[in-house]
Amino acid sequence: DTVIVLFTRDLRVRDHPALTAACARGGHVVPLFVLDPRVPAGCRAGFLTDCLADLRASLRARGGDLLVRHGDTVAETMRLAAAVGASEVYASADVSALARGRERRLAGERIGLRLFPGLTIVPPGELLPSGGGDHYRVFTPYWRAWAGHPRRPVLPAPARVPLPPGLEPGLEPGLEPGDLPRHAPHPALRGGESAARARLERWRREGLDGYADGHDDLAGDRTSRLSPYLRFGCLSPLEAASVAPVEHPFVRQLCWRDFFHQVTLAFPAIGRRDYRPRPRRWRDDADAVSAWKAGMTGIPIVDAGMRQLLAEGWMHNRARMIVADYLVNHLGVDWRVGAAHFFDLLLDGDVADNGGNWQWIAGTGNSPRPGRVLNPLRQARRFDPVSGYIHRYVPELAGLAPAEAREPWRIGGVRGYPVPLTALE
Ligand code: FAD
Repeated sequence: DTVIVLFTRDLRVRDHPALTAACARGGHVVPLFVLDPRVPAGCRAGFLTDCLADLRASLRARGGDLLVRHGDTVAETMRLAAAVGASEVYASADVSALARGRERRLAGERIGLRLFPGLTIVPPGELLPSGGGDHYRVFTPYWRAWAGHPRRPVLPAPARVPLPPGLEPGLEPGLEPGDLPRHAPHPALRGGESAARARLERWRREGLDGYADGHDDLAGDRTSRLSPYLRFGCLSPLEAASVAPVEHPFVRQLCWRDFFHQVTLAFPAIGRRDYRPRPRRWRDDADAVSAWKAGMTGIPIVDAGMRQLLAEGWMHNRARMIVADYLVNHLGVDWRVGAAHFFDLLLDGDVADNGGNWQWIAGTGNSPRPGRVLNPLRQARRFDPVSGYIHRYVPELAGLAPAEAREPWRIGGVRGYPVPLTALE
């Protein structure tokens, strides 16, 4: 009796409810990952390759393997099911429109489908507002319910992943393990569960204590940088949350991630359509958008953020807020243009978190922010007081005193660095 465990963005062996359940059944388990052209990895391809290599090594160390296939996920799963005589597919339940389409199609096939939690701390849809409705629209009441909700225990990795007897991959036609994609590693960060665990451990020891006071300090760079690992499920969010008490601000940030996932379950178009329509005339300004993307707006704090994104595939949360607000509220450009660019370049680029945060900035999201506009100069003074962040990412300004680096036009500008796209006070 054989079960296929279909891995998607849960690329780990520890705290993986679907894998644990499959291994506990007493039958056999065939772990599968499908590189599906409908889910292009883009800039995340190198990171994903690391994740798959690490997962395969962990599964092999437990007597299993990771079969890798290219093509349509449902078709490849069914092809493998026929080859190994599998009766069921186990997978982690997901919320995006694409993932749910895949789940629906699998459910329509002649095979049993069981979905498990694991992509969030509290499963989306499990908490519902007492006043009715299919999801929480506002964060604070969600946070209160979430913080008091019982959590399942963190699961250890299964000791053994039992492959079907005689069907060791590579011996039977159709059961080759399959090549991993060949992509160079992302220049800034190694993927995989081993790297994720090492980072979580270091974060628990060295980062957590300074988080409450330091998480908004741009130059201090004191956040966990766990987001790419959470994005690919190299780390279970439940385990990440277990390193601190529930009222710790780090755990509250993880709750934002759950919050946007439960919004996405109810509103799968979160990355495309206004959640709360707000009529607005967007400006079409290709030159301004190019300058924004290149980190050449002439506003140093905005350019520092955009250049961090280009260099590292990641950006500090405070900088994300500043650059997103600048695009939407100062340049008047549609939030979807910014969201698409972020999605292309972020290692943690994710439909729910990216769409939810951009909509929040644009004022089309769940929490209304009527007329709230960030002043990037004030933000820079407050969150980058000695311009360490600007100095690090905008080398043209590296030699300037802090106040001059933040507002170089006050000293008549700097050669090679653009004049500001918009006037700011
Ligand atoms: P930490 O501060 O250490 O927080 C721990 C974890 O909490 C993060 O890894 C993340 O999983 C979660 N988290 C923190 N803040 C948020 C938030 N505002 N919303 C949802 N989850 C949060 N995050 C993504 O993971 N993917 C995205 O595509 C994404 N796009 C964003 C777009 C914009 C315009 C903005 C303003 C924010 C976006 N964020 C996104 C949220 C946030 O910026 C990142 O999660 C955070 O910067 C990741 O760094 P960290 O792991 O060091 O975070």
